[in-house]
Amino acid sequence: MTALTDAVPPAAPVAYSFPEAPVESRPDLAARWLPGREFRTRFGCWLLQKAGRNVLVDAGIGPGPVAYFPGLAGRLDAALREVSVQLADIDLVVFTHLHIDHIGWAPNLPNAAFAIAQPEWEHWTRQGDAAGKPHHVEAFRTTLLPLAERVRQVAPGHEATEAVVLLPTPGHTPGHCGVLVGELLLIAGDAWHNPVQIAKPGWCHRADHDPAQATATRRVLARRVLAEDWVVGAGHFEVPFGRMTRHGFEPMMLRGSG
Ligand SMILES: [Zn+2]
Repeated sequence: MTALTDAVPPAAPVAYSFPEAPVESRPDLAARWLPGREFRTRFGCWLLQKAGRNVLVDAGIGPGPVAYFPGLAGRLDAALREVSVQLADIDLVVFTHLHIDHIGWAPNLPNAAFAIAQPEWEHWTRQGDAAGKPHHVEAFRTTLLPLAERVRQVAPGHEATEAVVLLPTPGHTPGHCGVLVGELLLIAGDAWHNPVQIAKPGWCHRADHDPAQATATRRVLARRVLAEDWVVGAGHFEVPFGRMTRHGFEPMMLRGSG
């Protein structure tokens, strides 16, 4: 299991990224997780290697440059080469959801199948322009929809591949799923954008499709993670792995495979 970083965008003002969050009500949390009142993030992906198969979880912003993130180009290809994997070696991509920053490299993976939770695929294929903000709709239409014959829809709660289960966590998008790996690690997708949301699940990122449902999901998911003692992986956290505590999050330094 390797955490990969596709790109690092410039820090954004908290008032932009979390527009409704009453950040000044908890200056302690803001100082810890949103230093300088800025939201610092990554566009992260994950590589699972088992029995000669290479499985990616999420596919970044793509080679770019991506117009929506001015000047930003993904480097997932280079990050993979650092662990001796080529784009053509990827057998399967498991998506947490189908936003612009999670599907970008799909057209550059010539031998990959794509596993997507059925409600998420149905949402983006059936809702048209109403599926999400215009940049997400456009990215879906140009990036993933042309590859539809390689998409395998997975029932939520079921395996996308051996020991990799899609766990329904709706709200950020209607069919958003966490990816549970071996009952040990939960790749949480965008259920959390920043560790501050573990203590403050109602501090919604501007990209949450349904803020109330996303908030409810964060509450339920935090209880489940604590009860199951899962390690948490989050592609938008600055440090990709961590342990949840009763009141927050402790980043862990896990590098390379393991
Ligand atoms: Zn995202």
